[in-house]
Amino acid sequence: MGYRINTKCILSGYSPKNGEPRQLPVYQSTTYKYDSSVEMGKLFDLESEGYFYTRLQNPTNDAVAAKIADLEGGVGAILTSSGQAASFYSVFNIAGAGDHIVSSAAIYGGTYNLFNVTMRKLGIDFTFVSPHASEEELNAAFKPNTKAVFAETLSNPALEVLDIEKFASVAHAHGVPLIVDNTFPTPVNCRPFEFGADIVTHSTTKYMDGHATSVGGCIVDSGNFDWTQNDKFPGLTTPDDSYHGITYTERFGKLAYITKTTVQLMRDLGSVPSPFNAFLLNLGLETLPLRVERHCQNALKAAEFIRDSGCAIEVNYPGMEGSRGYETAKKYMPNGTSGVISFRIKGGRDAATKFMDSLKIAEIATHVADARTCCLHPASTTHRQLTAQELIDCGISDDLIRLSVGIEHIDDLLEDIGNALEASQK
Ligand SMILES: *Cc1c(COP(=O)(O)O)cnc(C)c1O
Repeated sequence: MGYRINTKCILSGYSPKNGEPRQLPVYQSTTYKYDSSVEMGKLFDLESEGYFYTRLQNPTNDAVAAKIADLEGGVGAILTSSGQAASFYSVFNIAGAGDHIVSSAAIYGGTYNLFNVTMRKLGIDFTFVSPHASEEELNAAFKPNTKAVFAETLSNPALEVLDIEKFASVAHAHGVPLIVDNTFPTPVNCRPFEFGADIVTHSTTKYMDGHATSVGGCIVDSGNFDWTQNDKFPGLTTPDDSYHGITYTERFGKLAYITKTTVQLMRDLGSVPSPFNAFLLNLGLETLPLRVERHCQNALKAAEFIRDSGCAIEVNYPGMEGSRGYETAKKYMPNGTSGVISFRIKGGRDAATKFMDSLKIAEIATHVADARTCCLHPASTTHRQLTAQELIDCGISDDLIRLSVGIEHIDDLLEDIGNALEASQK
């Protein structure tokens, strides 16, 4: 569809026919009825298309996945029950025991644990690189058994902006795809396929849902990566015994990767979202461009306000001129980055605590990226177990505050932040 993204957010994925429901129906059904066992058998052999069990496919989930695929400019997508499941499947679909992945070190803490602890137990090795690594440094991280490069377009919580073209070109030179987590910018602000990324993942829990109601995830396939260019991806290019010897690249072409994710990983691992959660996600998607625009406007004003208050040592908001990542963000997310900012408050941990406790609108919560403004002090919460040195190593000082700016009226927010900043310096 050639529409602009705001229109796609409303129209894509579901087109009711004459007399059908105008809003996407919730198909709250586990199973689907067929008139003959022959027909049903063909579905199990992937010889014909159709629904037979919601763990694999469900019409509500599929409509929402199709909308997200269209927003990203991909050929296909699958919803998962969480962002974590999306990250896991996106890598596990093409890597197994004995394989190796190059990953940016600036990734969500949950993803880091998934890779560095849990997936290592499955025999998959990871090398973590700086998101600002040079081409030489990136090249040096590859091994003969490397199967993918993984990174976040705008990292949570460090807010590092990825040079997508650089990471994509190095990955491609080594014959492997670039997988990026595009949760923070959303396709409204950044479409990584336009810069060479091959697979996109999302935690839809954040801006896409937008109201902190439903945990969910999504994987989108650009359809651009040629899995047959080398022998690194036998799971896609050689017969799958669990489907009577189907070869995904031969049977499904550009849809090989996403089809395998659905019919093999989702079949076997089953991290399927409830159709009702997909329905809620779809409501969120309808207003995503409006909300993201306001989040970015509010965050920029809040970042400038904090910078000019004299109460901060450093403000990190890549959407603000002079901030780290601003130049890269201008290229990859010219309309805005996200609503998340971080800053170091003058007066250390004490001031941080006073600031947090003085806020009235902004809530203390571990969530980010929904309609309500919320605030987190990583050193005393998410990173509480780390020693002073470990905190320094991962760039989290004890005066660092992360603020996820919501869509309340900016004047109310600035008043709240201003009062709390004043209280923090007493
Ligand atoms: C929250 C988050 C995740 C994990 O998603 P869940 O939906 O919480 O499982 C992954 N990546 C990023 C960038 C996130 O912010």
